[in-house]
Amino acid sequence: MEEQNPFKNAQKQLDDAAEIMNLDRHAHALLREPMQTVTVNFPVRMKDNTTKTFTGFRVMYNNARGPGKGGIRFHPHEDLDTVKALSAWMTWKCSLANIPFGGAKGGVICDTKSMNDFELEALSRQYIRSIAGFIGPKTDIPAPDVYTTPQIMAWMMDEYSKIKGHNEFGVITGKPLETWGSEGRSDSTAMGAMYVLREAAKMKKLNLRKAKIAIQGFGNAGSFAFELATKLFGSKIVAISDSRGGVYLESGLDFNKLKDVKERTGNLESYKGAQKITNEQLLELDVDVLIPAAIENQVTKSNADKVNASILLELANGPVTPDADGILAQNGVFDLPDFLVNSGGVIGSYFEWAQNTQNYYWTKDEVYQKLDTIITKSFKDVIATQKQYAEKGKKINTRMAAYIIAVGRVAAAMKARGWY
Ligand code: NAD
Repeated sequence: MEEQNPFKNAQKQLDDAAEIMNLDRHAHALLREPMQTVTVNFPVRMKDNTTKTFTGFRVMYNNARGPGKGGIRFHPHEDLDTVKALSAWMTWKCSLANIPFGGAKGGVICDTKSMNDFELEALSRQYIRSIAGFIGPKTDIPAPDVYTTPQIMAWMMDEYSKIKGHNEFGVITGKPLETWGSEGRSDSTAMGAMYVLREAAKMKKLNLRKAKIAIQGFGNAGSFAFELATKLFGSKIVAISDSRGGVYLESGLDFNKLKDVKERTGNLESYKGAQKITNEQLLELDVDVLIPAAIENQVTKSNADKVNASILLELANGPVTPDADGILAQNGVFDLPDFLVNSGGVIGSYFEWAQNTQNYYWTKDEVYQKLDTIITKSFKDVIATQKQYAEKGKKINTRMAAYIIAVGRVAAAMKARGWY
């Protein structure tokens, strides 16, 4: 079905923003398609000495504001249209954060679960050899994404450095600290989301010390969000879930106990004294803050009406469907869009790249403080844009306000460069 195509969705979102902001039609046409799309087919020698051919992609969507930036996914169902959509969204995310990057994304069709480390390393190196002419610290800088890890980033950086004949640490971000990754990069996504939550709570006059929070997902993003919300604000996390379901405890869950239960039993449900809940029930709990931090399409037109939280912090990518937006707004839910809330990840990557290119390294505190400055400014820009449009009689949600800022900045850069 056409609306299932992620790239068509990304184009539709751009079209909607273009209409509201009255975007120049030449700029609009340029921004509807990626500037560069690369498909590569390459051989990998497998452990049993056979050779297998893999297909990979690298899409550089737009570089008017700086080199391409975006992760690499290793996924059995990867396809070009998904990579194109993700590269468009990276363009808007980098622009909203006002960091000097365009947007890009890459991927390889493969099933990492059926591969051993030997094959994974060979695949990572061959993919980089195939796209080496299209990436670089000044052209396009990849990072980890679904099923790619800091170790894979280190192999890729090493392969690229060998091709160039010198170390190029700045070609890739999300590397381990040993190969000049950045302090604070591992939890920068969740930390950024906490700064956004702090500002949203101030605006809504919500005391986070007394707030009840529910988090969907206990992976990288969700578990750091849990830990940080309790540590920074003293909030109570009353519910959490993973793909198998979740737990609810009115008096608040304990992070270390939960981690221990998950490690020992493989699920969250064995947490003593907590009530079992489904992922659907979690979304409908009577809490102050709801943080979807798992997968896309969780709040839809069929359950948006049942969201009881006053703040919805979209830590996952795409957790709220477009048809749920209006319902949430009508019910007074303050919904903060994914490409603002989770932009701490790419901002952390920007810091890593900036440190690599200067060969000068920062402390964790410096990283957090700079992250706070950038993401808090993004939040304030979104709220100010929403207000400006309201004053002109146009009611827009925070997602549209974020789009208007992001698309406007890229269009302005293209105009200044004489592209239209
Ligand atoms: P992850 O794989 O570490 O964790 C995902 C979590 O979601 C797991 O706990 C998993 O059990 C749970 N989950 C899977 N299917 C589920 C379902 N049907 N219902 C409920 N829970 C389910 O992934 P992550 O890195 O934490 O990413 C989570 C989301 O955040 C994704 O949308 C990702 O794109 C987004 N994000 C993450 C980062 C980052 O730095 N990790 C950056 C930007 C955006």
